[in-house]
Amino acid sequence: QTIPAPTGHIANVLTIAGTDPSGGAGIQADIKAFSALGAYACSAITAVVAQNTRGVRQFVALDPGFVAEQIDAVLEDVRIDAVKIGMIANAGIARVVADRLRAHKARNIVLDPVMVAKSGHALLAPEAVTALRDELLPLATIITPNLPEAAVLLDRADAWNGAAMQDALPDLLALGAEWVLLKGGHLENSADSTDLLAGRNGHVTALPAPRITTTNDHGTGCTLSAAIAALLPGRQVPGAVASAKDYLTLSLAAADQLDVGGGHGPVHH
Ligand code: PLP
Repeated sequence: QTIPAPTGHIANVLTIAGTDPSGGAGIQADIKAFSALGAYACSAITAVVAQNTRGVRQFVALDPGFVAEQIDAVLEDVRIDAVKIGMIANAGIARVVADRLRAHKARNIVLDPVMVAKSGHALLAPEAVTALRDELLPLATIITPNLPEAAVLLDRADAWNGAAMQDALPDLLALGAEWVLLKGGHLENSADSTDLLAGRNGHVTALPAPRITTTNDHGTGCTLSAAIAALLPGRQVPGAVASAKDYLTLSLAAADQLDVGGGHGPVHH
């Protein structure tokens, strides 16, 4: 399968994110998803993370100037058709990523506001939330918060039900992105995993999906946002999001074929 870019070539997609040497999340998951969906993968690294399927041990954030250097090196040479932003680690990196994406007039930007790994380890400095929300988020075509991340972005309690999710959509859009995909996977006592997609144009859809029971669920958020970025060039946002969600459902359904690590293993691309 190949994804058409405006030039008729395969789409070039850039991920700006942190690493996972065990291959399940972050940059490594993004590259696998881009490749599986027929896009050409580029990557600029924000932080090098020592982690595996059991958890995050430690990370080293790269110097913000050097993150900017990587983004410039790609964007001054390669036509980039979509960008996925994952772990940005700290406020300095948030600011330079926003600055470089603005300078290069990047489009089709998917922002996954990564804050905490499933294992509970913080991947974003708490004082970086303001820079993420005020500088990076308004550049996004779409943001993909899960419920705890939406609570932090809106500075509200992390207590949710279906009605509270609906109510949060206008507040999330008011932060400045064109679209929001509010992911319902963290809702307790829910038989399925329904995400809500809302646009500034008034569009609202519920995207239900079966709740797949597997311990191989490491990197699901990374995979979904990467799939949206890979599918955005040449598509409308609702179509790209629906196809990306189908891709994640298939990747989760196939995840038990993998035997990778003793903790939360990766999904299978
Ligand atoms: N590591 C990196 C570099 C990430 O960007 C993320 C999430 O986006 C994770 C780990 C967390 O993965 P999970 O919470 O799915 O285990």
